[in-house]
Amino acid sequence: MSNIIKNVKLRNPGETEFHQAVEEVYETVEKVIEKNEKYQKAKIFERITEPERLIYFRVNWVDDKGEVHVNRGYRVQMNSAIGPYKGGLRFHPSVNASILKFLAFEQIFKNALTGLPMGGGKGGADFDPKGKSDAEIMRFCQGFMGELSKHIGNRLDVPAGDIGVGGREIGYLFGAYKKMRNEFTGVLTGKGIGWGGSLIRSEATGYGLVYFAQNMLAENKDSLQGKTCLVSGSGNVAQYAMKKILILGGKPVTASDSSGYIYDESGIDAEKLEFIMDLKNNRRGRISEYTDKYPSAVFTPSDRSAESNPLWAHPADCAFPCATQNEIDVNDAHNLVKGGVKLLAEGANMPTTSPAITILLENNVLYAPGKASNAGGVATSGLEMVQNYSGIYWTRDEVDTKLKDIMKDIHDTCLKAAKEFGMEGNYQAGANIAGFQKVADAMLAQGVI
Ligand code: NDP
Repeated sequence: MSNIIKNVKLRNPGETEFHQAVEEVYETVEKVIEKNEKYQKAKIFERITEPERLIYFRVNWVDDKGEVHVNRGYRVQMNSAIGPYKGGLRFHPSVNASILKFLAFEQIFKNALTGLPMGGGKGGADFDPKGKSDAEIMRFCQGFMGELSKHIGNRLDVPAGDIGVGGREIGYLFGAYKKMRNEFTGVLTGKGIGWGGSLIRSEATGYGLVYFAQNMLAENKDSLQGKTCLVSGSGNVAQYAMKKILILGGKPVTASDSSGYIYDESGIDAEKLEFIMDLKNNRRGRISEYTDKYPSAVFTPSDRSAESNPLWAHPADCAFPCATQNEIDVNDAHNLVKGGVKLLAEGANMPTTSPAITILLENNVLYAPGKASNAGGVATSGLEMVQNYSGIYWTRDEVDTKLKDIMKDIHDTCLKAAKEFGMEGNYQAGANIAGFQKVADAMLAQGVI
């Protein structure tokens, strides 16, 4: 193990997700650092793995029964070499410094790949929005923003949504910021249309993911037409990934949440997807309810002690993990290969463990890392920022065309960088190298700060 990685582990004890993300990037950019003495001398990798700032705060709030709760809020301002910090907020009980540092670290390279001037950041709280009333969510968001508002700004740090933070939460957070700071600025992205939001932002991560996969298939003279697709998650990313898969002639057959997954062999068509969207976005129900409405589908409850997740064992052509980190491990990767999967594109951040990625690559599965394939969300957030700065708003088609172009550019950039360093066709290496070089060069130019 290199001294750099040893040091990261020593300096960040117990932060396994952060170690995993750093190691994964280091393994592919090591060659680039070795070739470039300036990067070594300026200690670029050592600096890029240390957050510029990590803000950690208490959030108190009162539930509907009058009981007081205490949660932890965070903002990791990881790197601002190429622009203001940018990255989502996650509300989930698992949130801790390790998870947010891994996400903020990934975000640096992802944002660089979009070609837009955005630095890397991430934040959130160990608050669980599940089962909470709208009034409770609002009070939590107001408490959270009470502290966060001191550290963000439309030219400084512009958060967005992530797991557990959707349109409702962004609305409450934006309202709280506006009231506290007495200003109406684009301090958050993912805002509603009509109060500063961009068309296509809700769809962007899922649509962008499928555009990326479409580019990978086109590179191999293939398309999504008629392809059976395994999708995990049933939130924002999964919903719009399924929508775009359907538009492009594919057939999604699975969807999940933390309680389990549904398998619908006949395919989740547009009407069934509408049902899922209403269930998740309006009624805030569980995915198991799908089988009440469509009894031919099968619901399998999740079993965390199992050695593999049966969702990934169904026969299919493509896989789109869109739930959370480390949802595909070694056994799942073997099952995907056995089931005939030829392409895996990550909608979630780091859903595939490193040994599982190795298995996919060894078996010639086309593999797209999240920092490239799910970058459409943050790219469209970047477009929302541009629209907020200029006061000029684009049509749906204009934003969608820009999103498509950005995903094609990221795709081509990954292939070009991989080829340059002798790893032709390796999207993982290409994404890491291209993202790293862009940020490293900006850091060099700006001196030791
Ligand atoms: P949502 O909160 O809308 O949906 C998350 C989905 O994943 C839900 O179905 C949820 O189920 C499931 N899920 C969450 N945690 C777990 C878990 N520990 N085990 C099993 N299932 C889980 O989030 P998004 O769709 O926005 O985000 C999904 C992934 O995509 C995340 O990795 C996020 O970082 C990534 N991403 C999101 C972007 C965006 O624009 N929103 C941009 C780029 C990446 P349940 O409801 O039961 O919790």
